[in-house]
Amino acid sequence: MEEEKKVQTEQEPCDRICLEMDGVSRNEEFARVVTAVFMSRMNPTLEEMDDVKTAVSEAVTNAIIHGYGRQRGVVYIEAVISGQELTVVIRDKGVGIRNLEKAMEPMYTSDVTGERSGMGFSFMEAFMDELEVESQPGEGTTVRMKKRIGG
Ligand code: ATP
Ligand code: MG
Repeated sequence: MEEEKKVQTEQEPCDRICLEMDGVSRNEEFARVVTAVFMSRMNPTLEEMDDVKTAVSEAVTNAIIHGYGRQRGVVYIEAVISGQELTVVIRDKGVGIRNLEKAMEPMYTSDVTGERSGMGFSFMEAFMDELEVESQPGEGTTVRMKKRIGG
């Protein structure tokens, strides 16, 4: 009986994709679309798909404009489906964030041009079920987000 249970757990469906791309803005749409196509096998609603696309977009844009700025760098995207749960991890090896608590406050932005509203992290938080950010100044930033799809 014990043995049977174990086998069932191991067989729980788990799919993973891993993508690395140049951190340039024309790749933002690519990241969004790839994630949407990958999660489509979970039979998401249009709203769930839009939520994930928005969150991915915000994280990838942050990696490109804040993480790398004028430098060239690579953005790493990993997505995992485990049962009804989608995890997306977006990582850069850019400048990192000195004060993470402050950076994550709604309407905080380090941008001085007036173009940014400081709502990226708030959107990620609102559109996904879980958001975890790790960052080291000089090392880079990792954003890990989870969302339950359906049910
Ligand atoms: P918006 O997303 O509304 O255009 P924003 O990007 O400034 O504005 P957030 O996405 O909430 O707002 O990010 C807040 C701040 O956190 C940024 O202004 C930036 O200073 C910092 N930040 C976010 N992501 C990164 C990153 N990957 N690397 C370095 N700094 C980051
Ligand atoms: Mg942002």
